[in-house]
Amino acid sequence: MKMPNRVLKFKELFEEQKKGLLYSSKVFSEEFTVKAEDMSDEADLSSAELEQSMRMRLRSREALFIKKIDEALERIQAGSFGVCESCELDIEQSRLEVRPTATLCLNCKEAEEVREARNADGRKSKSMGAKHNLRIA
Ligand SMILES: [Zn+2]
Repeated sequence: MKMPNRVLKFKELFEEQKKGLLYSSKVFSEEFTVKAEDMSDEADLSSAELEQSMRMRLRSREALFIKKIDEALERIQAGSFGVCESCELDIEQSRLEVRPTATLCLNCKEAEEVREARNADGRKSKSMGAKHNLRIA
């Protein structure tokens, strides 16, 4: 089974990203812990609940991303990385550079996004933007 350099490059990238994510989720929980201690008694319950749901959301987003990375790594192993799942053509290299976990080529992705836009509840954040959305109102 051949593994071309362009695929190897992504394999390394995914492994790095995964490491980074696992690390950042640790940092997040530490930050949260400090904040929780600073909160007044009165605000405790609701803040704690809010914090909990924030953390869960963050976790699930991270878990989702880690899952995507794992799946991409599996595709690399299977030799199907970079092939569109829908039309089975090669995914554009430029697209993989921007979105290495992509499983659809640009055309198929656009078609999917049109469908999703009709259903989705405005899932705005893309990939690693989690930290910027982190705000306790
Ligand atoms: Zn396609």
